[in-house]
Amino acid sequence: MKNLLPLRFIDTHCHLDGEEFDADRDEVVGRAREAGCAAICLPAIDAKSCRSVLDTCSRYPGYCYPMLGLHPEEVRQDWREQLSDIKQIISLTSHLSSLTSHLSPLTSPQPLTSPASPLLAIGEVGLDFYWSREFADEQLLAFEEQVRWSVEMQLPLMIHCRKAQNELVAILDRYADDLPGGVFHCFTGNEQEARQLLRFPRFVLGIGGVLTFKKSHLPEVLPATVPLDRIVLETDAPYMAPVPMRGQRNESAFVRHVVSRLAEAYGVGEEEVCRQTTLTAQRVFDIRV
Ligand SMILES: [Zn+2]
Repeated sequence: MKNLLPLRFIDTHCHLDGEEFDADRDEVVGRAREAGCAAICLPAIDAKSCRSVLDTCSRYPGYCYPMLGLHPEEVRQDWREQLSDIKQIISLTSHLSSLTSHLSPLTSPQPLTSPASPLLAIGEVGLDFYWSREFADEQLLAFEEQVRWSVEMQLPLMIHCRKAQNELVAILDRYADDLPGGVFHCFTGNEQEARQLLRFPRFVLGIGGVLTFKKSHLPEVLPATVPLDRIVLETDAPYMAPVPMRGQRNESAFVRHVVSRLAEAYGVGEEEVCRQTTLTAQRVFDIRV
């Protein structure tokens, strides 16, 4: 890894609360800081993980930032209960500074800890018809409900979408004028798909390890269709480690490899990639880091 320049970037999507990091989370965060990672955004996937995301963020105040929501692959028969739990956690989180732990939700095994970092977004939410359409109708309803939260609370969306872009865009179109913005995370599509998503003016694409894969078409698709200021960096750690770490557990420090490849693809310096993607992340999430 090149470590000559003092780069500064934001990892906008990292499951740092996952058990894959239980043994060495402090070291992972230490390496992220050393590599120039200025902040890490943590998406939840269900009600239980909302608690672990908040807990992890409270351990790294001002560095790790929570995003709360129900992931499409976690949508099952109990999706309504999950959403009502998550909604309760979100409203408690928003008001928590003035509350004490005895007001934690009944479903919570532990009191919620006060997040020193503000809630950044609703996420990750979306549609995933890749493995199965078993809960497709429920996914559509759960996603639309969370899109309404985004509008009501004016919190951006962290969106996961696989094999469902047309359905996803149809829902977003209904709220297009009122949406505060967000990220289409782990974008891997073609030029037409990129254009379809960029029609939403306050939304950007999340780019991570896939960009570095040998067969990826992103190094051609992105510069041809996506202005550099419509991209944010991400890991999706522990998944999607970039080349040359492919197959290993991913972590925020590895974003450096994505920065290199993006700089090459756009024909700009690594500093410029970091500068623009950091400004974009700050704009979308309204954070100052
Ligand atoms: Zn994710």
